[in-house]
Amino acid sequence: MLSPLDLPFARSVHDRAAHRRAEPALLDLLRADETTRVLQVRGTRVAVAEADGLPRPALVPAGHLRDDGTWLFLGEHEGAGILALALPDDGTPGAPDAGGEAGAWAGLRELPALDGLEQGLVVEAVALAQWHTAHEHCPRCGAPTQVGQAGWTRVCTTEGRELYPRTDPAVIMAVVDDADRILLAHAAAWPRGRYSTLAGFVEPGEGLENAVRREVAEETGVGIGTEPHDVVYRGSQAWPFPASLMVGFRARAVSTDVRVDDLEISEARWFTRDSLLAALEAEEVRMPGPQSIARALIEEWYGGELPGAW
Ligand SMILES: [Zn+2]
Repeated sequence: MLSPLDLPFARSVHDRAAHRRAEPALLDLLRADETTRVLQVRGTRVAVAEADGLPRPALVPAGHLRDDGTWLFLGEHEGAGILALALPDDGTPGAPDAGGEAGAWAGLRELPALDGLEQGLVVEAVALAQWHTAHEHCPRCGAPTQVGQAGWTRVCTTEGRELYPRTDPAVIMAVVDDADRILLAHAAAWPRGRYSTLAGFVEPGEGLENAVRREVAEETGVGIGTEPHDVVYRGSQAWPFPASLMVGFRARAVSTDVRVDDLEISEARWFTRDSLLAALEAEEVRMPGPQSIARALIEEWYGGELPGAW
């Protein structure tokens, strides 16, 4: 029996305190409170300051921040409110306010040393901020929308209809055959040598396990078993670019002939543990980065850490 994977970005330390979102003027109240901390977001990047030589999210007081962004309630931690300030992503951005430190903007991949609290806040802030940016108008009538529920809805100014942030599930799977080999694929759009697990979005009306079977068949022609234990859940990871939830599986192949679609996937190969290690050491193959659920799924199959990354 496999125990659940401990995945990067899957921890959550702060309290989202969803019961407070409907409080009248919650955002104004917290902005006036000097214990409140604010994470500034611009596009997919957050404000950072260096601590011990590494960039860390800058959690700064609300008081003197610029006021042309959208304020969002992320939750509470140790008795203090935490807000995000989503700033317009226009032109060449100046450095963010980092509370007196030298500030900069950084994306998730540039933040290798986040603790559980920071991971949870950054992923929540980036996901929520991007949803707001993309939903300034009502999808039904086209009227402008405005922020409701302290950042957890947008409300159509004509119809009063509420819109909720969305999350798009995607499946990602370590496909393993009965000889205990793993199937890794190279996407047509990637640089040479880059391989990863197969993945794809869940379609409307489709369950997760069937999405695994369909994606593997479409991209490689490999069949996945139809028994319930042939597709086993391993863990999930929010990936806010812009709104994915990566749901990870181990899937058992019942056929091994590979026939790639040549559109999305240009090559797919079966690896034994020895052949994968040899390919990595020869730098003929490169693995996904250490923060990714793909790498966690591959290393779980391998039974330990593998060298190198994209
Ligand atoms: Zn409307």
